Amino acid sequence: MSGFPQPRSAYIHVPFCAHRCGYCDFTLIARRDDLMGAYLDGLARQLESLGNPVEVDTVFFGGGTPTHLDPPSLARLLELTNRWFRLVPGGEFSVEANPSGLTDEKLDLLAETGVNRVSLGVQSFVNDELRLLERDHAVTEAVETVGRLQRRFRNVSLDLIFALPGQTLETWKANLERAIELQPQHLSTYGLTFERGTTFWSKQSRGTIVPAEQELERQMYEHAMDRLEEAGYGHYEVSNFARPGFECRHNQTYWRADSFYGFGPGAASFVGGVRRMNHRSVTTWIRKVLAGESPIVEEEVLTPEERAREAVMVGLRQAVGLNVAEFQSRYGFELLPLGGEAAPRFLQKGWLEIVDGSLRLTRSGRLFTDTVVMEFL
Ligand code: SF4
Repeated sequence: MSGFPQPRSAYIHVPFCAHRCGYCDFTLIARRDDLMGAYLDGLARQLESLGNPVEVDTVFFGGGTPTHLDPPSLARLLELTNRWFRLVPGGEFSVEANPSGLTDEKLDLLAETGVNRVSLGVQSFVNDELRLLERDHAVTEAVETVGRLQRRFRNVSLDLIFALPGQTLETWKANLERAIELQPQHLSTYGLTFERGTTFWSKQSRGTIVPAEQELERQMYEHAMDRLEEAGYGHYEVSNFARPGFECRHNQTYWRADSFYGFGPGAASFVGGVRRMNHRSVTTWIRKVLAGESPIVEEEVLTPEERAREAVMVGLRQAVGLNVAEFQSRYGFELLPLGGEAAPRFLQKGWLEIVDGSLRLTRSGRLFTDTVVMEFL
């Protein structure tokens, strides 16, 4: 493996949703449940490229909505996954889910086949906000689903979106309070973004939807940092908060720039120092895999410097930051000089700090993570 450790994490992309939400630009296909069988045939083929079953510490089903698969298809996905990936005892098996259509039958299936962490796309506890986001569930359904999840899984995560058009600081605060009351082990909070190609993008271009003011978005994020930490959630990554011991281990693989497997349309992998990206079109991915052709659209061998820069980009997102000495021994580059003049500038500005030998974002730096990372690199 040319000096690269074998991946210990596997990602499987499940690209089906009941419909496409207005803000979403993920790799998925809506209202094409007829393709589930072909997708699973394709996945079985792509997994065969592993040659032999491999041992991993984490498995993650992302989407799309993995739990949109009908029960027999979900059972087949789980069977395929467990055949190719041997999760170590105590390993983490995460599945992304949405409240709509998440039946007890599906939840029992997940719990019985090794899934031990579910990340639920709640997004908001205000029905008007859910309608604005074009979500297909109501608040009562989400709350009821959290209860059914908690009866089966000891690790439940909720996703919330803030900075919605028209959202006030007060409604965002109320959203967070509802989330805290439900006592999930983990919370992810994302500021709404307007991605090209989405209906939100077109609405914004036409002026029929107006993004939140940046200052308000900052206040919402700061409130989340304060309130969630007060409620016992560690802010371990820019958008992620967890009770101690419930940090998402799979995502930490990415933030540590470690190797990982990736299968399914649009999935990336990083194996043996090579980054590969599967075709984003679900139908093209299926056609290629089933025809015995490569579904890879991009393949890049990272140079040592690119690997080092990538590690900075992802590593700075973590609260622990990057240990300066470890970074140099792992990548062969000095961390601070890699940032050029931006490093001393951000240190002086108070957006970066060095604590116990690690470079990390300060609280105010977190408000400008993208700027810091972009200019640092
Ligand atoms: S449910 Fe999630 S993945 Fe599916 S369209 Fe909505 S935001 Fe995108």
